[in-house]
Amino acid sequence: MRKSPNIIVTGTPGVGKTSHAELLAEKTGLQHLAINKVAEEQNCYDGRDEELQTWIVDEDKLLDALEAEVPAGGYILDWHACDLFPKSWIDLVVVLRCDSTVLYDRLTSRNYSSKKLEENIDAEIMQVILEEAWESYDGEIVIEMQSDSLENIDENVERIQTWFEQWKKDHAE
Ligand code: ADP
Ligand code: MN
Repeated sequence: MRKSPNIIVTGTPGVGKTSHAELLAEKTGLQHLAINKVAEEQNCYDGRDEELQTWIVDEDKLLDALEAEVPAGGYILDWHACDLFPKSWIDLVVVLRCDSTVLYDRLTSRNYSSKKLEENIDAEIMQVILEEAWESYDGEIVIEMQSDSLENIDENVERIQTWFEQWKKDHAE
């Protein structure tokens, strides 16, 4: 049994995962784990996709790297996918959503190639990550939150914080 929950913050690149995770970590004391950094630091790669200009993550290596610490709880997992984490590790899945024109502007300022830009906008419109979350976890722990504005970030983090405090109460001995 965990003394503190694990929360996934997921969604299409640019929806605001890292912005949410950082503020949530500050408010709750949970540890923000940027999974892309873990993959980089522990070299959990299996080659490179030259067309999309991204590293291909070896999910088995990544899970091995996380396994020693994460199941004990207390983490915010910030990653643009969610179906790789074992169900038993996870207490809440937050799927951030963004209006496609807003997301377009955010990704353009990241200098993405037009192919990468288009793929990500399509994925957001098709709600790929939300469906991945529904398929991978029990529906009651999956919540969808809008992330178009800065006010949204504050509201969302406040809601997650309320959930966190309730979780702590429910799991106190
Ligand atoms: P992700 O981690 O999902 O790729 P980031 O948190 O890095 O997204 O956010 C991408 C960019 O969009 C950053 O410049 C961030 O400041 C901005 N941003 C993210 N969420 C919001 C929001 N809800 N309102 C306004 N700007 C946002
Ligand atoms: Mn990020």
